[in-house]
Amino acid sequence: MGELEIRNLTKVFNDDSGDIVAVDDFEAEIEDGELIVLVGPSGCGKSTTLRCIAGLETPTRGDILVDGNDVTDNKPKNRDMAMVFQNYALYPHKTARGNMAFGLKMTTDLSKEEIDERVEEVAAMMGIEDLLGKKPDELSGGQQQRVALGRAIVREPEVFLMDEPLSNLDAKLRTQMRTELQSLQQEFGVTTVYVTHDQTEAMTMSDRIAVLNGGQLQQLGTPLECYHEPANRFVASFIGSPSMNFFELELDTAGSPTLVNETFEYELDDDVYADVEGTGDRFTLGIRPEDVEAVPADTRNAIPAEVEVTEPLGDVTYVYLNVGDQQYTATLEGDIVLEAGRTIHVTFPQEKIHLFDGDTGEAVR
Ligand code: ATP
Repeated sequence: MGELEIRNLTKVFNDDSGDIVAVDDFEAEIEDGELIVLVGPSGCGKSTTLRCIAGLETPTRGDILVDGNDVTDNKPKNRDMAMVFQNYALYPHKTARGNMAFGLKMTTDLSKEEIDERVEEVAAMMGIEDLLGKKPDELSGGQQQRVALGRAIVREPEVFLMDEPLSNLDAKLRTQMRTELQSLQQEFGVTTVYVTHDQTEAMTMSDRIAVLNGGQLQQLGTPLECYHEPANRFVASFIGSPSMNFFELELDTAGSPTLVNETFEYELDDDVYADVEGTGDRFTLGIRPEDVEAVPADTRNAIPAEVEVTEPLGDVTYVYLNVGDQQYTATLEGDIVLEAGRTIHVTFPQEKIHLFDGDTGEAVR
């Protein structure tokens, strides 16, 4: 078992400029075998959260429990966790075998033969037997990261903690290692907390994503929940590429309920209005680029937009448009050529629009 519970985790750093709340009341229950990705912009508190779980930082408040046991005051080596870092942190003078064996020598009373056997078993499962006699400077970045992973796996921890483990690899290797890492995690079934700032990595690898901003947890949900039902404007803008488009609008209920700003009007369907009625009169409308539709000018809710640039990607085309003084993106199917400066009409299907409270940014629909 490796159930991990994080309760009210808060970490405040004090430096010359005052208090920095790096992690603010973070809570999560992570199931045995689950892979959770902590994601968010630089400085949002991902690494600090992970380091508190690992015991490398002392929380200001809060508790860390593994299988119901409070490990908050335990030393890192007594938490049954193994950490994998971005820079691999291999010992340069030890071989891959020595590196993989080292943690076991320090934390268990296994004999040399037993340790050798376990290292070889894991190396075979990972297909890195040939590397065991080599030192880190004889290994490529990808091979070093495999050894660093192997070192974590041989310890058979309850929990893996990974801090941007793939970020030093080139794009192609990163994609390959992502798949490898995922299948290893599933094979060994080890509960994993994985930190990245790369939302593609978060979307593709995780069972659930924890989106952080300014030390605060914004949403904890499956990748598709965070994508389709973002809890607020921040999550909506962070998850998805190219990013969701946003428009600030006011609700006009003089006639049929309509969202308006200085450049366009968008009449709401009854069921959409029913969702937002009474929640305020200023909204942010969000629409993902792939949900923007090109339509004839006389379509209901057609919005005129000036084409700025088109970027053909083969299967789809990114079209950068200007509506008033605001630029936004439409992802249109196929290979489309549109002249810069030309005016087209687009609309946002009602079932695809997201509406956020104009003041708080919380999702209202
Ligand atoms: P990145 O993606 O850039 O690594 P992160 O999301 O991992 O960022 P953290 O490294 O956890 O963010 O930092 C969160 C906040 O805490 C930042 O404002 C950072 O400057 C601050 N911080 C982190 N460690 C310390 C420290 N030892 N002393 C003071 N402030 C710190």
